[in-house]
Amino acid sequence: GAASSGGLVAYADSKSDDVLDKPEGPPKKKVVVLGTGWGGTTFLRNLDSRLYDVQVISPRNYFAFTPLLPSVTCGTVEPRSVVEPIRRILEKKGGDIKFWEAECFKIDSENKKIHCRSNIRTNLDGNGEFLVDYDYLVIAVGARSNTFNTPGVEENCYFLKEVEDAQKIRRNVMDCFERASLPYLNEEERKKNLHFVVVGGGPTGVEFAAELHDFVTEDLSKLYPSIQHLVRISLIEAADHILTMFDKRITEFAEDKFGRDGIDVKTGYKVVKVSKDAITMQNPATGDISVPYGMAVWSTGIGTRPFISEFMKQIGQGKRRVLATDEWLRIRECDGVYAVGDCATINQRRVMDDISEIFRVADKDNSGTLTVKEIQDVLDDIYVRYPQVELYLKSRQMNGIADLVRTAKGDAEKESIELNIEEFKKALSLVDSQVKNLPATAQVASQQGQYLARCFNKMKDAEENPEGPIRIRGEGRHRFRPFRYRHLGQFAPLGGEQTAAQLPGDWISIGHSSQWLWYSVYATKQISWRTRALVISDWSRRFIFGRDSSC
Ligand code: FAD
Ligand code: MG
Ligand code: MG
Ligand code: MG
Ligand code: MG
Repeated sequence: GAASSGGLVAYADSKSDDVLDKPEGPPKKKVVVLGTGWGGTTFLRNLDSRLYDVQVISPRNYFAFTPLLPSVTCGTVEPRSVVEPIRRILEKKGGDIKFWEAECFKIDSENKKIHCRSNIRTNLDGNGEFLVDYDYLVIAVGARSNTFNTPGVEENCYFLKEVEDAQKIRRNVMDCFERASLPYLNEEERKKNLHFVVVGGGPTGVEFAAELHDFVTEDLSKLYPSIQHLVRISLIEAADHILTMFDKRITEFAEDKFGRDGIDVKTGYKVVKVSKDAITMQNPATGDISVPYGMAVWSTGIGTRPFISEFMKQIGQGKRRVLATDEWLRIRECDGVYAVGDCATINQRRVMDDISEIFRVADKDNSGTLTVKEIQDVLDDIYVRYPQVELYLKSRQMNGIADLVRTAKGDAEKESIELNIEEFKKALSLVDSQVKNLPATAQVASQQGQYLARCFNKMKDAEENPEGPIRIRGEGRHRFRPFRYRHLGQFAPLGGEQTAAQLPGDWISIGHSSQWLWYSVYATKQISWRTRALVISDWSRRFIFGRDSSC
């Protein structure tokens, strides 16, 4: 455990507990994981914990199944059904993983130390701060809600990021209804209390608006018959459409459905200020308008946590907005540090930066030109190292590299064409346009956590037998294939037991059948049988008795 070292900081050294365990063999390397969300938890579940001395640090001692948070806001699902204690997850794994409930506030990558602060400290513990050292550090701390410094948002809006946020929203929705029912209010005041504003037309904002609409029409309208006609839900989005990350058909369906449901979708409006009583938004045509509201939920995007920004400055990433890793999820600037999930983005290497090197590697016979066959021989490596090449060929409906070569030559006839370096450059000059940042989703975070755990599990083997693709000078040896994201599709629940689903291969399905797909996918994805049982029983209870309005 944490033994006080007498100074201001205690020192958490897991070694001291283990002196009686196996004295032989070299000491295991220390892996420290920051965060118990999607990235951190998936990493831990997949890690072979016998190989390392593992410590986990997070201010929350549970994992939260975030896709069901919107359902918690209206009591469709209970808070306890979407969380799993991290200690239970670790215990099930076996092995000897330590967990400290604390927040990391500083990363000292020079000395390979983490500065932490306990959030449950008492007067007896001093300042609750302690140090942990690591050989490998996995940063999986997620992101924070982003207000874009809009005045009044922090003070007056609700966020939907954590379980507590969802619980607060649920209580406040009920408060708005009870307040609007009080005998001494006039009609205007009742209306104001019952105006629910959702800022941000992304998946979370849209799902919350839909959930709230269902709650009001299916459950609350019966309990508050005299005021139910005064309820208004507005969804404000700065862009021209909601759900822009989805296919157009889904966007259109969602906008139409919300229109029919009476949800006021205001696209092209940017919220510029939120005061206690009114929300001010801007539109080039109308100028500023202010509307009174009862409750506002802010869901416009995510930003970097302050201690990560600080860390970025320290390692020379101060000019960036988001922490960057390479395609192996390593932070290049420091040794043994990795990052997964919402706190980081992958800095995909550009083909154009390496084009001469690629040419040199491919030109096996040193002829100064590349044949189609020579390109073909290194193509698999190129695809692995630069996934944008494959995306580019697909987007141009090109049938493999030969098409590309012919197009570059402007000659569709000849079979035996060769490219010199300039022609090769020209042929690939547009491929980097296909580089895209991965979305901030649970899907990405968990695939990254899983990938990284597998790398850690194979670390020793791989040192002897590197399996990496084409090697670019100055990059060193790659022991693993780079991380590759597999998109499995995405859901957008739209209320009224209807969900839009966009699956790989442009497969779109909207309606009641995809709602059932949604139920089954989210039941399957539960982290334990316990939460699965709880979630399914919450859904059943809701079908039979409706949602609970007492809070
Ligand atoms: P998180 O899961 O946020 O985990 C971060 C962890 O770090 C937490 O345990 C936190 O307590 C801990 N932490 C924070 N600060 C510190 C610190 N200083 N020191 C140590 N630990 C710290 N994605 C989907 O794919 N599908 C969905 O349907 C979906 N729905 C969503 C609905 C909502 C309401 C929200 C908010 C998100 C949703 N997402 C969804 C996105 C998804 O939740 C995130 O992309 C995912 O959680 C990112 O995982 P992560 O591990 O990077 O961060
Ligand atoms: Mg995490
Ligand atoms: Mg999470
Ligand atoms: Mg990310
Ligand atoms: Mg050649």
